[in-house]
Amino acid sequence: MPWARTALTPLPEAVTAAAAAAASDSLTDAYSAVWTGLRDRPGQPVLVVGGLTHGLYACAFAAALGSSQVVYADSDARRRRTAESYGAHTVDSAAELDAGAFPVTVDASADPRGLAAGLRATAPGGHCHSVGIYFEPVKLPLMSMYMDAVTLTTGRPDITAHLPAVLSLLASGQVDPLPVYSDTLAYDDLPEALLDLPAKPLASGRRTELPAMLERLGATHVVHREETGFRYYSRFFRADDRGLPVSRYWPLTHHDSVSVITAPGDGDHWSVTLVTSGRDQALRRLSDPGVWDAVLALYPEAAHWAEGVPDGDVRVMGGTGTTHRRWVSDGEPLVTGLVAVGDAHMTLNPQFGMGMTAGLGQVQVLRDVVRRAGLGDPADLVLALDSELEERYWPTWNDGDTWDRHRLAEVDAEIRGESYSTDDPAWALRTALDTAATLDADVVRGFGRVASQLASAEEALIKPGLVQRIVELATGRPRYAPGAPDRAVLLETVGRLA
Ligand SMILES: Cc1cc2nc3c(=O)[nH]c(=O)nc-3n(C[C@H](O)[C@H](O)[C@H](O)COP(=O)(O)OP(=O)(O)OC[C@H]3O[C@@H](n4cnc5c(N)ncnc54)[C@H](O)[C@@H]3O)c2cc1C
Repeated sequence: MPWARTALTPLPEAVTAAAAAAASDSLTDAYSAVWTGLRDRPGQPVLVVGGLTHGLYACAFAAALGSSQVVYADSDARRRRTAESYGAHTVDSAAELDAGAFPVTVDASADPRGLAAGLRATAPGGHCHSVGIYFEPVKLPLMSMYMDAVTLTTGRPDITAHLPAVLSLLASGQVDPLPVYSDTLAYDDLPEALLDLPAKPLASGRRTELPAMLERLGATHVVHREETGFRYYSRFFRADDRGLPVSRYWPLTHHDSVSVITAPGDGDHWSVTLVTSGRDQALRRLSDPGVWDAVLALYPEAAHWAEGVPDGDVRVMGGTGTTHRRWVSDGEPLVTGLVAVGDAHMTLNPQFGMGMTAGLGQVQVLRDVVRRAGLGDPADLVLALDSELEERYWPTWNDGDTWDRHRLAEVDAEIRGESYSTDDPAWALRTALDTAATLDADVVRGFGRVASQLASAEEALIKPGLVQRIVELATGRPRYAPGAPDRAVLLETVGRLA
């Protein structure tokens, strides 16, 4: 261990490893949350708005640091019992408490409503510390905080500075973290314990073996699988002294029988992909780096993405079917004790770069369902998750699937030298959007919000009234932006290098 004397803090004899398990994290975070307020207000009452384990530790430290009264607010009965074992008086909700009653408050709720309740309960001149991490901006009652001189602090804890004080409170027996733990297990018993969880989230990816395993057990699952039939020819590059290429437009552009993806990556690397139909035999020669380079040079918005050091040859990928799975049939779970998220639940066309965001969104949905429905009834959990995932993600998958079908039909028509037409208004609007997004900043912003899964098409395009503008901008314009090669030029370029 480099710089061990500085980096490590010795564990006192009287403190077990189990008791100190959270000392370099939530335990010391909770200590400093309470200490920050009590330091200048010794002995004063403390309110803890609970939710995270930090809140329970905060009760124990508030009592140990000499607070005259510790009140713990939380709707969870089990956590309230633990807080009571630390000598706290407990209430269901901080809203029941008088405003401005506590000189020291701790928000350990990770919920904007908990933070608001904690601030409301903070006395004039008092101190509120929030240990909950808020990923989104949160409203603050700055006017009343200003008038009452309420101080709010938050931030990652300074663990090393507070660790000796925390360990000394543990060693003296004034604080015992063990009642907060749900269980204490030997390290070697962990795999078994994890298998005993009431619901195991499955995230084993697009090639998950689970459906086959379940079928062997006699359970069936509903699978919608579509072969997208696209073929991807990618090259990777690393920056030379010219640096990273500049993005001139959206990273995915469509042209006559080819789409182009430019994807900046980490460490000054990037990839460029030429996407064709899997049935496009003439363009299979894109696997040759010389042909690939010559074809990329034909696309004005993307040609400069070859200005770097190539990393390897052309990598070819096909057979990326999109899949959507459900584990419920006729309103009954096909399997309990197991829930699927990410690519194990559904895969999207990789052209759109949406898979990771969708997977993380599904994990959030799972978290919210578990929070709401609990883990008590395994069937309820599967049904609740299925219904929520269907509502949130089936439209995304279905839209992607519809796009795939139309685009492949369009490319296949172009290979035959025909232009594609369909009476599906959804496709007309999608292609109009491709055109309008090159012409109008509001449209490209709305499009970006949908593609990044920050908003639905309804929120980002329809409600702001952009549909009319999209149609107007695209009317009378060609399907593809001018300047890029048509099929004849592509074939001529490929043929010339044969
Ligand atoms: C070519 C391509 C390009 C893509 N580009 C993008 C992009 O630009 N942006 C984007 O957001 N998404 C993109 N995606 C999609 C994204 O990669 C996936 O949606 C995402 O990785 C899914 O995450 P996951 O955790 O569900 O599955 P995975 O990332 O596949 O992880 C599953 C893991 O489980 C492991 N595993 C499977 N079975 C077992 C087992 N029995 N025991 C132990 N381990 C097991 C696997 O080895 C794997 O490591 C792309 C996908 C492809 C194919």
